[in-house]
Amino acid sequence: MKQAKIRCPYCHAQAVLRPSAAVYQDKAQPGRHLYVCARYPRCDSYVGAHEGTLLPMGTLANGDLRNKRIQAHRAFNRLWESGAMKKWQAYKWMQAKFGLNSGQAHIAMFSEFLCDQLIAECDKVAINMRLTA
Ligand SMILES: [Zn+2]
Repeated sequence: MKQAKIRCPYCHAQAVLRPSAAVYQDKAQPGRHLYVCARYPRCDSYVGAHEGTLLPMGTLANGDLRNKRIQAHRAFNRLWESGAMKKWQAYKWMQAKFGLNSGQAHIAMFSEFLCDQLIAECDKVAINMRLTA
């Protein structure tokens, strides 16, 4: 199995491609993989891998950052799940808002700072558009 060479941004250890069961145990989705810090669980840092390519979806994240990314996804998905915009329009909006290209406009690559910025911007849109979803 070929794996991308990425490092943990917290402790700089190599990230190792492992089945998601290594972290999620019985809650794991079969066939899914994660890049997990070699020092896991002492260093609680990992990120999902794309199903087909096994490339990392973003940068490794600790518990706080994973939480932020979940919140950011929730705020962002609301924009298109509500029907206020199409999914691709929401991504275009995100790119324009933060000056990102399409390769960078992925919440799995976002820092806590950028997650906070995105949540705030999504909330503004939601209020302007009176989204209740
Ligand atoms: Zn680490």
